[in-house]
Amino acid sequence: MIKITIHGKIVSHHRFTPTLIFQDFQPIAAIATTPLGVQLLQRSLPSQTATLWVPESLRDRLQPVTEPSLRSYSGSLKAHLASLWASHRSFVFCLATGAVVRLIAPLLQDKASDPAVVVLDEAGQFVISLTGGHQGGSDRLSRLLALQLGATPVLTGASNSLGLPGIDVIGLPFGWVRGEGDWTGVSAAIARQAPVQVIQEAGTTLWRDHLPPEHPLVFAEWGDQGVGIGDEALQAAIWITPRLTPNSSPPSPPLSLPPLTPPPPDSRSLIPDRHLPTIHWHPRILWVGIGCERGTSRQVIESAIQQVFQQYGLAEAAIAGIATIDLKADEVGLVEFCRDRALPLRCYPAETLRTIPVPTPSAIVETEVGTPSVAEAAALRAIQDFQSCTDVVVNRLSTPTPNPQSPIPNPQSPPSLLIPKQIFRLENQPGAVTLAVAQAEREYTGRIGQLWLVGTGPGQLEQMTPAAQTAIAQADAVIGYSLYIDLIRPLFRPGQIVETLPITQERQRAERAIALANWGLTVAVVSSGDCGIYGMAGLVLEQLRAQNWDGKTPAVQVFPGITALQATASRVGAPLMHDFCAISLSDLLTPWEVIEKRLTAAAQADFVVALYNPKSKTRVEQIAIAQRIFLQYRDPLTPVALVRSAYRTDEHITLTTLAELLMCPIDMLTTVLIGNQSTRTYANWMITPRGYLGFDGEDSVH
Ligand code: SAH
Repeated sequence: MIKITIHGKIVSHHRFTPTLIFQDFQPIAAIATTPLGVQLLQRSLPSQTATLWVPESLRDRLQPVTEPSLRSYSGSLKAHLASLWASHRSFVFCLATGAVVRLIAPLLQDKASDPAVVVLDEAGQFVISLTGGHQGGSDRLSRLLALQLGATPVLTGASNSLGLPGIDVIGLPFGWVRGEGDWTGVSAAIARQAPVQVIQEAGTTLWRDHLPPEHPLVFAEWGDQGVGIGDEALQAAIWITPRLTPNSSPPSPPLSLPPLTPPPPDSRSLIPDRHLPTIHWHPRILWVGIGCERGTSRQVIESAIQQVFQQYGLAEAAIAGIATIDLKADEVGLVEFCRDRALPLRCYPAETLRTIPVPTPSAIVETEVGTPSVAEAAALRAIQDFQSCTDVVVNRLSTPTPNPQSPIPNPQSPPSLLIPKQIFRLENQPGAVTLAVAQAEREYTGRIGQLWLVGTGPGQLEQMTPAAQTAIAQADAVIGYSLYIDLIRPLFRPGQIVETLPITQERQRAERAIALANWGLTVAVVSSGDCGIYGMAGLVLEQLRAQNWDGKTPAVQVFPGITALQATASRVGAPLMHDFCAISLSDLLTPWEVIEKRLTAAAQADFVVALYNPKSKTRVEQIAIAQRIFLQYRDPLTPVALVRSAYRTDEHITLTTLAELLMCPIDMLTTVLIGNQSTRTYANWMITPRGYLGFDGEDSVH
């Protein structure tokens, strides 16, 4: 239990919060029938992330039972599993694979709804992703568990060997919704590496930036005359669109109204004129503005949306949310509709709505509610929150053509209003609905973003904590300086967004991470060593504070790492056995006078000191000044260690003295450890005694 007190008053209690890394897979049921299996599952799943089930007979033999989430079942495992199946997102078995196959066979339905099923061997060497590899998430869960155990994940889906993300999961980080289509047919075409056409009319293109060099996807862009490859060769098509597009050829006619900017793609030029397996992903970019009479039923609202979307060829799956006037925040039909569809309901006051220019204002509405437009103005207001970031490419649709009987929309509508106001009633049902649809530039993810501030340790992967490794493997996006990104590359999985920025652009890196997290992604920001020691964690938190962050959204978690002073100390022995401090000699962000003052104080107080950033190509004087300061208070023979690139392939260690340190190679990858007055070297080891003057006093050595 953590208590947080501010000014002596307890403001909040938290229970121990388990790591957020496994949250996408929870609730997790883990099942073992042997003591070894129990141990293995406890090692692979951090406490509180899963319920661990064992047969009653085994429970009594497990001594002592300290894990509160350990529970026992009586009767057959088959029956017990059936009782857990629907309520759990993931199952992790430490059982023979054959037994698991027989147990789950009667429960499996289809890959869109089946949970993740993962099997570990009792020796902890392999983690098998058995079923639900993509949509169930078991490939990802298997990677995480394997990282915890140092085991090999066994992933047999075809896309893994191609280094591609599953085509049925590419849109999930961005909240896209899977639409109609032949998902098996398209996946099979990709597995054969046959050329597959991608027509992306909306949504981010971030998913494309990190595909392996050899991939079978052929992208059609706006204005493309052809597809750049013989049509005959294409074997499947992927539409990323808010529209309902054809499942098979011939495709629907291209949108025929005089185009607003930019022009719609001529779909006929993109897809060859023959049957192809086709799938649809729908980015949620459509905001439906709604005005309604008091007491309008949920059914009328639902029918209005359904009818208008069908008429205009739009997919309801592409709805991001509903926008209206604040007077309607308690409108029962509207609230019920949003709740059942899990859609956000954005409500705006009349004063806000009346400032938004709309194509179809109404004097009557203005008299009634104080704004000349509810539906159009609310839809347009809602999309303002989703302006594009530079990386998010979205093509604005022109107003689609309704079928010929419907009124032609006003071509004067602002381009972002896709469908101007429509009025809708249902016979024998009370109430009426006005409805307008606007297209946001950026899709609504519907997710709460996470910022994971991860310390990757000094270099080698085994010096990194398992929690940090799993955080990186699990994040949607990883952002860091290119040198450190290269060191952790083996942790990445297909489809991850990996962004590097030069070393000087820490602020931009933090801003970028926050922007992606605010949008709903899980973003790992990596720093070498510890993220909170001259690392990115502080920058990110400072910038969040400057943006009036509420402390919760995005959720932040810091993953500690072995910092340079620990790593370098470990290479030379035990120099940090007595009080020590770290001082960075970089005066980029700290005035040199402050650094000098701290150097003097540390030297005077006889701290063992780790100097970070001792020298760069242009900054060479500072280390000499530091040496002079220390020489005023310490013996010239005080041991000094210079450790460059600890735990990396170019590691270099020099043991020297305070007097001679400038004669040795020092650069920006070096940490300088200066001993205190008792520090000694012995057989090439650097040792600081735990106690002064030969005795320990009352402190003990731990
Ligand atoms: N967040 C990092 C520190 C970044 S400041 C950490 O906690 O370790 C950069 C400085 O750290 C470098 O100039 C160097 O002094 C030190 N440093 C980082 N990694 C190092 C390594 N592997 N070996 C030696 N020094 C290192």
